[in-house]
Amino acid sequence: MPNPLWFNPALCLIGGEWIAPSAGVDLPLINPSDGTEICHIARGDASDIDAAVASAQAALDGDWGRKTALERGRILTRLGQLVLERMDDLAALEAMDVGKPLTQARADAVALARYCEFYGGAADKVMGETIPYLDGYTVYTLREPHGVTGHIVPWNYPMQIIGRSVGAALAMGNACVLKPAEEACLTALALAHLAQQAGLPAGALNVVPGLGAEAGAALSAHPGVHHISFTGSVATGALVQQAAGRNVVPVTLELGGKSPQLVFDDADLDAALPFLVNAGIQNAGQTCSASSRILVQRGVYEQVKARMVAAYADLTVGPAAQDLRVGPLISARQKEIVEGFLAKGKDLTIAGQGQIVEDAPAQGAYVRPTLFADVPPDHMLAREEIFGPVQVLIPFDTEDEAAEIANSTDYGLVASIWTRDGARQMRLAKRLNAGQVFVNNYGAGGGVELPFGGVGKSGHGREKGFEALYGFSQLKTVANYHG
Ligand code: NAD
Repeated sequence: MPNPLWFNPALCLIGGEWIAPSAGVDLPLINPSDGTEICHIARGDASDIDAAVASAQAALDGDWGRKTALERGRILTRLGQLVLERMDDLAALEAMDVGKPLTQARADAVALARYCEFYGGAADKVMGETIPYLDGYTVYTLREPHGVTGHIVPWNYPMQIIGRSVGAALAMGNACVLKPAEEACLTALALAHLAQQAGLPAGALNVVPGLGAEAGAALSAHPGVHHISFTGSVATGALVQQAAGRNVVPVTLELGGKSPQLVFDDADLDAALPFLVNAGIQNAGQTCSASSRILVQRGVYEQVKARMVAAYADLTVGPAAQDLRVGPLISARQKEIVEGFLAKGKDLTIAGQGQIVEDAPAQGAYVRPTLFADVPPDHMLAREEIFGPVQVLIPFDTEDEAAEIANSTDYGLVASIWTRDGARQMRLAKRLNAGQVFVNNYGAGGGVELPFGGVGKSGHGREKGFEALYGFSQLKTVANYHG
């Protein structure tokens, strides 16, 4: 594949200028498909974060802060158009950087464009209300930006996660400091170039790549930041929340899950099957809303198992450029983590596995997608987030048992229910601990429009949809006494 880099990746965007990190240090970026070095990226640190936060504040006090909601929306809409025009370039970058098969990388670019369009269109449709009050008063509410918002983004879906958090924050008039993941930050930088072309004023979006413990920690602890959006692991999310707490700053945390699909005897199995497998192996299982637990009622358990095993036998894993169903994991480190989990499943039955293609480079971060069957619900593989292409099949007898198993992990991001029984659909949709429940589908095509977020250790706060616009703003009540 030709090198798709069309900008200098070793720079930070601060105050509208592309500059080297202040310490002059960089980090290698590795292609997970073959282990080769792609380029070097900036290793921004606390002083770069300081400069970025100051630039964001200056943008709020200047040109960006004076833009009307309509003007902000138009800039975002233009950005969405540029993303669509450069879709293949963005997908090529993401495929190289994250290891995503090209089709999946393209789908992420389309989702990024949709976020820009959605939040571009929504920017001037967020309204306050008037509140009936005491005689002589007129009371109304205003939705105002937090100010400077920090965005700490992981490596698994850079384009989508930046689209949903930065897109909503800009729509509401915040100025953003974005810290992309050190493993994958090329599309963050590319998007920042496109945002400049779309007319986003200097300082409204600043991008400082770097290590989590350096740039990320500095951003989450910075007293000039007024809201933080974090997506990633539970452990790091807790650190970010602690750091933000010292400044009494709100955080949105999106921390992953162990999302179940519940398949009942009366389910339409032909409809369910593609979702059961795909929701587990998409993006090589490195998806916060991956469905890693498949709970199946005993009447159809053997049938579902047999069909999933057959589907796994058809799964091929290889380099992003081959555009197979499954690409590599993000890194050798992630491969070690997933292999560590697989080793913990030695006492379990491996029912099905995919294949790594013969010409896959030896230095690529490949693992075979693996389906474990008859897994006890309290086994660690049925409870912990693996973040790899691994699913467990768990049989159940009754609706109550299914709900108890589904609710038995620390997480609660997404769940789905496969049944034709309408009453059961309604009962379980209420009973399941999850921020999103799907009935006879899973993931609803990504759902830019659908509020998304978790309960329990999956985090708190909601992104996506209109709801994100409330999260990225604060409500002011004005009580005007006029007699
Ligand atoms: P991580 O949570 O450490 O990293 C996510 C982001 O946080 C990155 O940008 C990173 O630089 C930053 N970060 C790291 N330490 C920080 C700190 N002290 N302060 C502020 N920011 C910091 O995740 P990881 O190490 O890349 O992956 C480990 C595990 O996390 C995975 O195996 C997976 O289980 C989970 N994960 C979940 C998601 C998700 O979408 N929910 C995404 C990535 C990883």
